[in-house]
Amino acid sequence: MEPNIIKISPDTEKIYQRSKSIVIKVGSSLLVEDRLGAIKKEWFASFIEDVMHLRKLGKTVIIVSSGAINLGRKILNIKDNELTLEQEQAAASVGQIELSKEYQEHFKHKGLICSQILITLDDFTNRRRYLNCKSTLKTLLKFGVIPIVNENDTVATDEIRYGDNDRLAAQVASICESDLLILLSDIDGLYTASPKKSKNAVHIPFISEITEEIELMAEGPENEFSHGGMKTKIEAAKVTTSVGCNLIIADGQKRNPIDKIFKRKATWFLASQSVKAARKKWILNMKSLGEIIIDFKAEKALKSGNSLLPVGATKCIGQFSRGDVVTVKREDGQIVAKGLASFNQIETGKILGLKSEDIQGVLGYNRKPELIHRDNMAFFN
Ligand code: GLU
Repeated sequence: MEPNIIKISPDTEKIYQRSKSIVIKVGSSLLVEDRLGAIKKEWFASFIEDVMHLRKLGKTVIIVSSGAINLGRKILNIKDNELTLEQEQAAASVGQIELSKEYQEHFKHKGLICSQILITLDDFTNRRRYLNCKSTLKTLLKFGVIPIVNENDTVATDEIRYGDNDRLAAQVASICESDLLILLSDIDGLYTASPKKSKNAVHIPFISEITEEIELMAEGPENEFSHGGMKTKIEAAKVTTSVGCNLIIADGQKRNPIDKIFKRKATWFLASQSVKAARKKWILNMKSLGEIIIDFKAEKALKSGNSLLPVGATKCIGQFSRGDVVTVKREDGQIVAKGLASFNQIETGKILGLKSEDIQGVLGYNRKPELIHRDNMAFFN
């Protein structure tokens, strides 16, 4: 059976150049010597150079880095091949500090600031923590910081754990509305069968739709030191392509693994729509939990690309929290748009009609004034 593969090569260089926000996932086997459990210094320095280059091109970069467990197991001298969960957690705790130190030293040397973010699966299922994580990441990027993300393995037990950084990286790319996720691995992409087991395995350069056949081609982890396999990479691609973000699986073993990645043998999972279009569709399809009624002036302002400010809102109906979808209506009842509320209904009710500078006095705390930010708004055609 022929898999669903694009026959005409898309312009990968253009896709790459257009990508402003990039997430790079670094697999443990690239960063850490298998048996020695030490950082591969030269490779690491070349990777940092590549990231520097992306920053110089004006792109924002988030790194999702594995390696804590492998570094920690060496330091703790754990010889067992299979670690218990408790051993993994202890190794991660020791190794994470080492990993962060390496990133910090290298970036500092180049005049860049990096930060550490440790996340569990639970953080993404809890709405409040999800929104906080999103706004922290966005703020760090605005400051020009390079966030270094890993799973918080020390506290994550199996039921609240990703266990692999492929899917974690996809979630990060999705919440940051990134254009491109690069999964740097020890294999140059997806094959019709495992190339280690079958001579007839054929490399697949481009995938436009993740069909059942594609999923069947994926195998589990092949290496005792890595947690993800092709399966988790395909799961990651399902997440990213649904939100408009392209994904590349590339072999990162050689030095300067990102340099001219668009020219290398790799597998590209191509999103059928842009991040903006996917987000708009998602907002319009979400169930609305409330209504905000606006005046004529506000409608005009929204239509010319501005955010919805309290001064233009006259009424709010329903029960909603920060981040929920609400409908924006005119006073005559006509629907204008749908968007993500920045305040819950109680706060919104208190600040209706207020000028931005008066909000803090009424709420008692300082927050950005928009009721709905323009990036979180979708209009009906
Ligand atoms: N979070 C794990 C670690 O640092 C790695 C998970 C993975 O390899 O995907 O070390």
